[in-house]
Amino acid sequence: MKKDLSAIYNQSIENPEEFWGKVADDVFWFKKPTKILNNSKPPFYKWFEDGTTNTCYNALDLHIDNGKGEKTALIYDSPITGNKAKFTYNQLKDKVSKFAGALDNQGVKKGDRVIIYMPMIPEAVIAMLACGRIGAIHSVVFGGFASNELASRIDDSQANLLITASCGFEPGRTVEYRPLVDEALKLAKHKIKKLILFQRKDHEVKLNSPLEISWDEALSNAKDKDCVEMGANEYAYILYTSGTTGVPKGIVRDIGGHIVALKWTMKNIYNINEDDVWWSASDIGWIVGHSYIVYAPLFKGCTTVLFEGKPVGTPDAGVFWRVISEHKIKSLFTAPTAFRAIKKEDPDGKFFSKYDLSSFESLFLAGERADPDTIKWAENLLNVPVIDHWWQTETSWAISSNCTGIEMQKTKYGSACKAVPGYDVKIIKPDQTIAKPNEMGDIVVKLPLPPGTFPTLWNADKRYEENYMSNYKGYYQTYDAGHIDDDGYIWIMSRTDDIINVAGHRLSTGAIEEVLSEHQSVAE
Ligand code: AMP
Repeated sequence: MKKDLSAIYNQSIENPEEFWGKVADDVFWFKKPTKILNNSKPPFYKWFEDGTTNTCYNALDLHIDNGKGEKTALIYDSPITGNKAKFTYNQLKDKVSKFAGALDNQGVKKGDRVIIYMPMIPEAVIAMLACGRIGAIHSVVFGGFASNELASRIDDSQANLLITASCGFEPGRTVEYRPLVDEALKLAKHKIKKLILFQRKDHEVKLNSPLEISWDEALSNAKDKDCVEMGANEYAYILYTSGTTGVPKGIVRDIGGHIVALKWTMKNIYNINEDDVWWSASDIGWIVGHSYIVYAPLFKGCTTVLFEGKPVGTPDAGVFWRVISEHKIKSLFTAPTAFRAIKKEDPDGKFFSKYDLSSFESLFLAGERADPDTIKWAENLLNVPVIDHWWQTETSWAISSNCTGIEMQKTKYGSACKAVPGYDVKIIKPDQTIAKPNEMGDIVVKLPLPPGTFPTLWNADKRYEENYMSNYKGYYQTYDAGHIDDDGYIWIMSRTDDIINVAGHRLSTGAIEEVLSEHQSVAE
């Protein structure tokens, strides 16, 4: 039966409780929620507040219960080290429950914060899921991030444990984590109690016991741990984004809404089914990595790819095509920058012609504005739909997109398509009036935000309210600017502070970039 996007969208906006209540039936609950939305204290909304569940159970155990234990959950493909590995749902669950036991041995309790400062290796995913298993709150910091950034995250989260590795690899260089971690531990006012370090092959570093223990040693006397029952509004993780004041903002994700929304997006936005292979070429340190390398694909029960490499240089501009063809990937999600890098190195797609990409059905881009030129280049090369979609760390899933699993919309180059069900997007002008179609203004989302978005900031309710919810009463301010056209397509043109006013014309960085990139000699 053909699905009608506008009918589904309207239902999600007019009756969000009924809509998300039904979607929530698709996830595992220890106790099913009876209260879908608590809106008694705006702007602090609570989804599924009396439900109990577990993030890791929904990512792993549930699929094993459903007879899919021997299916591949995770493919690790690391052109930078030459390693590859596959983990079935059974194997991943065994590793995660064991590591959860190791965390327990190190004294990690439900609600404790655990910082994960790791490269793109399976152990990073195992660590994230193990936290979820025992109800610890992880905070992943991009591996190799500067010491002062790591220190400020240790201080703000008051983490008890840090999980790291001996190093990360970039094309042509090794990023030694040890000195970065040492410096961060010195800078941080809050003192962590324990550190677990994964020694990468041929790159072992010294450990300072008794505070520090290697990954293998931590596992040596660990017992498997089962999933603990967690309240839907307890937190799965904190992910920091840089704040303008220098104090990072701790975006928190509550457990229940996160599972419900992300699982729903896999089919409805990305058209991914359980038997599909999905690849998000991002990093677990960013929101795209959290949501679409780890959580959403595993909640869905499909196969996800963890790629430790770069679009070019590991070893060449054909690596994306090699990975897609080798693992029979259906859809790829990456940033426009990756495609610009490939285009610059291989403008005529010479590498592309070497691979069989018959499994490949769509490319999704996000993270920055996808300029029409790059989209057209990718479309011509790949001969599949290339979809620009818009979202933020704050929301954890797309605010606007082509919902390819519901009803495919036509592409308008330069627009990130229409609002996704759950998001009531408006353009608002400084005088607080709603803009007319095609009129530029601040992009806002009417409250309540749908499940899976941020219910607050870590230990900073006031900052949440003042920063995001106060300039426009009843709306979440995205800090992006743009317009909505007559057909409901959203055009994200810049951050609100990036608009240049020239002789009364409001020029956005996006529009200026678009003009420049149309020139034939400009690659990025
Ligand atoms: P972050 O929270 O770091 O992922 O950054 C989110 C911001 O990236 C958004 O607020 C936008 O400014 C920008 N962004 C993400 N996706 C898009 C897109 N498809 N088009 C335009 N800007 C985007």
